[in-house]
Amino acid sequence: MVAIKRDVIIAGAGPAGAICAAYLARAGVDVLLIDKELFPRDKACGDMLREGIVRHIEKLEAVDVLDEKSTCIRKIKLVGSAGSEAAVPFECYALPRFELDKLLVDTAKSWGAEVRQGCRLVDVIRENGKVCGVIVREKGAEYEIRSRFVIGADGVDSQLVKCLAGVPDETAGGIGEEDPDGIWLGVRGYFKGIRLDRSLTKDQYDAGGVFGFDGKNGHAYFWALPVGRDGVKRGLCNVGMLVKGRDAFSSKELLERLDAWMGSEKIKAMFDDAEQIGEWSFGRMADKTQARKCAGEGWILIGDAAAPAEPLFGDGLSAAADTAKAAADAVEAALKSGDFSAEAVTASYKAALAKLQPAKSEDEIKEDRLLMESLNDPHVMDKIVEMLVRDPNYAKKAL
Ligand SMILES: Cc1cc2nc3c(=O)[nH]c(=O)nc-3n(C[C@H](O)[C@H](O)[C@H](O)COP(=O)(O)OP(=O)(O)OC[C@H]3O[C@@H](n4cnc5c(N)ncnc54)[C@H](O)[C@@H]3O)c2cc1C
Repeated sequence: MVAIKRDVIIAGAGPAGAICAAYLARAGVDVLLIDKELFPRDKACGDMLREGIVRHIEKLEAVDVLDEKSTCIRKIKLVGSAGSEAAVPFECYALPRFELDKLLVDTAKSWGAEVRQGCRLVDVIRENGKVCGVIVREKGAEYEIRSRFVIGADGVDSQLVKCLAGVPDETAGGIGEEDPDGIWLGVRGYFKGIRLDRSLTKDQYDAGGVFGFDGKNGHAYFWALPVGRDGVKRGLCNVGMLVKGRDAFSSKELLERLDAWMGSEKIKAMFDDAEQIGEWSFGRMADKTQARKCAGEGWILIGDAAAPAEPLFGDGLSAAADTAKAAADAVEAALKSGDFSAEAVTASYKAALAKLQPAKSEDEIKEDRLLMESLNDPHVMDKIVEMLVRDPNYAKKAL
C-alpha cells in the first residue's frame, strides 16, 4: 500500500464536494477531491439551480459559464390535480447535471484542487477514535491516503457514513438511522420537441415550466422544465417526479405514475411531438428530518451525505453548497487553531452554516413536512391554485 499525505480529502466530487474543494483550494489548503466516477457523469435531478447554489457559483467566479449554458426559468405553471392552473414567479437556472457537475469540478481544479476520478473511497483509517485518512481503490489497486480531515461528500448512499456508523465508539458512531419518511424517491428523463407554453416562455433567458400534482396517495410532485442552452429552442426538457417515502414505490410504479401524469388532460398536449432522449434515471434524496450527526474528530459530512435538504422544497443543491462552504470554513478554522476535537469542529461547522441558513427548530422542520404533505392533498393544492387564479398577488404572499 502506498501512503499519501494531504491536509484534506474530499470523497465525492458532486456539487457539495467540488464546491468545498474550490473554497478550500482558494484559501490555499492542500485538498484532494476524489470520485468513483469519471466526469462528465449523469445524476438523476430536476436540474433546478435555485438562488442558494447560484450564490456560491458566483463567489467562485463561474457564474458567466452558468449563464451561457443554462435556461433561466422565470415562471412556473402550477397544475392542480383537478386541472386548475396558475402561473407563479419561480426563478432558477436549469442546467443538466451532466454539465453542471463537470463545470464545478473544473472550477475546483481552476482554484488549485487536485482531482482524482475513478478513485473510490472504500474505508476510513482511524487512530484512537480519530479519522485520519481513507483507503481508496483506483484501477484495481487499494491504497491509503492519510489526511488531517476527511470530508464525506459521497451522496445519499454515502460510503463514509456506512464506515463511520460501523464504529462502536462515541466519537464516530451515532450517525443516525435512516427514517423512511425523510427519504424521497425520484425519476428523471430528457425529452426533445416538448411544446412549451409560449405565454410563459420567451427565450433562453426568460422561460417557463410546469409543476404538477396528482390526487393519488403518496406525496408526489411532477415537473417538465426547459433545460440547458437550447432548452427553449429545441423544446428540450427535464421531466420527472419526486415522491416521499423510502418504500413508497418500485421503479416500475414510479414510471407508471409519471406516465399517468404526462398523459393527464392538462399536460398531454405538451408531449404531442416529443421524443425521449436516453433512458430514465432513478435517484434518492434524504431530507433534513433525518437529523444526521454531521461532524466528529477528523471528519465532516456535507451535501446529501449529511441530509441537509429542506423537506418543503427539495432544494438539495443549495443545501449541498451551503454545507460545502460551512465545512470549508470549519476546516480552515481547525487548521489555523490546531483544535481538531469533535466539539470544536462541530461547533464551527454549525456556526458557519447558521450564517448561511437561518436555523430551524425541530418543530419548524416538522411543520414544513406537514405542509409538504398537505400540498399533496388534492383539496389543498387545488384550493391554492384556485386562489392564485383569483388573486395573482396571493403568489407573493404565499410562496
Ligand atoms: C429525482 C431527483 C430530483 C432532484 N431535483 C433537484 C433539483 O431540481 N434541484 C435541487 O436543488 N436538488 C434536486 N435534487 C437533490 C440533488 O440532486 C442533491 O441534493 C444533490 O445532488 C446533492 O449533491 P451532493 O454533491 O451531495 O451529492 P451527489 O450529487 O450525489 O454527488 C455525490 C458524488 O459522490 C460520488 N461517490 C459516491 N460514492 C463514492 C465513493 N465510495 N467514493 C468516491 N466517490 C463516491 C458519486 O459518484 C457522486 O459524484 C433532486 C434529487 C433527485 C433524486
